[in-house]
Amino acid sequence: MKIRTGLGYDVHQLVDGKDFWLGGIKVEHSKGAVGHSDADVLIHVICDALLGAANMRDIGYHFSDTDPAFKGIDSKILLKDVMKLIGNEGWKIGNIDSTICLQRPKINPYIPEMKKCLAQVMGIDEEDISIKATTTEKLGFVGKEEGVAAFATVLITK
Ligand SMILES: [Zn+2]
Repeated sequence: MKIRTGLGYDVHQLVDGKDFWLGGIKVEHSKGAVGHSDADVLIHVICDALLGAANMRDIGYHFSDTDPAFKGIDSKILLKDVMKLIGNEGWKIGNIDSTICLQRPKINPYIPEMKKCLAQVMGIDEEDISIKATTTEKLGFVGKEEGVAAFATVLITK
């Protein structure tokens, strides 16, 4: 059996009055993340970790941020496509671990819903998806509420 790990890291700017999509769901907040897609930073790092583990480049390689086809796209569609890409190569997910770095709002109450949503999109057990949240103690761009960052690692097998 082949076992591989992958890492994902991503950042999006936060601005006033935008919808805030995170982990496939809409988070209630005065600010939201901006990007070419719906700017769901958690989904993006999971996509990148999966592609990295399978040695299949990164999310920007497959879904260009200059392609109008992906403008404002629901990142859940990108995640489904990534599952197809790695599935076609015979890879199955072992587990996913992730961390969202965000000063406000508190993310913990949303985590069960995010896990449920992502498990459904990826067709895996909620038990195999870990989502953690941290502030950066008011330091840096996350602490100053200028942006949101996330990390993910995954293990895949075939
Ligand atoms: Zn992104």
